[in-house]
Amino acid sequence: MSRIVDALTGGSDKCVIPGHGADSALPEGRDLAFTPEVERETAPLYERVRDIVPAVEWPLFAPFVYAINRLKRERDAVILAHNYMTPEIFACVGDIRGDSLQLAREAARTEARVIVQAGVHFMAETAKILCPDKLVLIPDERAGCSLASSITGRDVRLMREAHPGVPVVTYVNSSADVKAESDVCCTSSNAVQVTEWAAAEWGADRVIVIPDEYLARNVAAQTPLRIITWRGRCEVHERFTADDVAGLRQAYPGAVVLAHPECPPEVVAASDYAGSTAALARWVGERAPARVVLLTECSMSDNVAAESPASQFIRPCNLCPHMKRITLENLYDALRLLRHEVVVPEDVAARARVAIDRMLSLPRATRPADFATGRDPVDVTVMSAA
Ligand code: SF4
Repeated sequence: MSRIVDALTGGSDKCVIPGHGADSALPEGRDLAFTPEVERETAPLYERVRDIVPAVEWPLFAPFVYAINRLKRERDAVILAHNYMTPEIFACVGDIRGDSLQLAREAARTEARVIVQAGVHFMAETAKILCPDKLVLIPDERAGCSLASSITGRDVRLMREAHPGVPVVTYVNSSADVKAESDVCCTSSNAVQVTEWAAAEWGADRVIVIPDEYLARNVAAQTPLRIITWRGRCEVHERFTADDVAGLRQAYPGAVVLAHPECPPEVVAASDYAGSTAALARWVGERAPARVVLLTECSMSDNVAAESPASQFIRPCNLCPHMKRITLENLYDALRLLRHEVVVPEDVAARARVAIDRMLSLPRATRPADFATGRDPVDVTVMSAA
């Protein structure tokens, strides 16, 4: 058990958490019940998701929602909920909600002692890097990411050797080891801005943008810079095809098609609008299209739909199996038992923090950047593991 957990659980007199550990008085998840008090207290939260979560399912979720929100107060904890969480998590227990950039910014500001990441492991690592003195928990340690696992720190060092002097821009969907080998991080909200900043700062006409090949190709279509990338893919977004877009347009005339820039470039080109998770949510909120298709993760569509009752959502659903490892049950257990602490070695964290801080210190855009659609694909250099 770490020094932080020890302090939180009574090893010091600063913050003693009642009911923690094996002698916990708190019930196990299976013992939670849908009592009249639970029903009354959670009714306002159900209003947030009633268009998405059937009434018959709420009695299964509500006891966890009630218990998690109570535990958060007892533990002095916040839950960072990524947009790809299911609606009962995102809207009913998430304290800080949004895409990777929003979560990273807010994690750095929170005063809570405990951060629980309702998302995948690289996000929890980012929270730990930015908040080294806090206890960061991940409810399921198996919540990984196909992009993050596609590349190692050693791969980045080899790319640098092959392209000396070229700045390395790394998508936050990467491990702490990879961030530590990078010059600056980016998200899909600011990837073009950060890439152009890095080129100017390093005086380069080429930029290494890793590890997502498709995000890098989509960035390349927005800038005259030459882009070198890595053959990493998001297993959710790589499955969308330009034929899917054509089929959706035929089946649902008038539907507006929005794509995430982790989709292949030909999908972005065929869509009506492309942008980060935050940009997609904002676009729908501002324009309230009658019919809309979001080419992204299923729960993202659900969460935007919950806030956009005027729009009809067509869901060509691709689930992220890693995000779906996070459930109300394991969030409850993580808070109840303070388990699955995320640890990043200090030397790695210190170097990774430089890359993240560089991104966070860039001028904040007033709105997440768009990716212009309809662009021709651009040639990029793609590297992969030997
Ligand atoms: S949606 Fe894609 S990028 Fe996000 S965690 Fe899942 S596999 Fe990784």
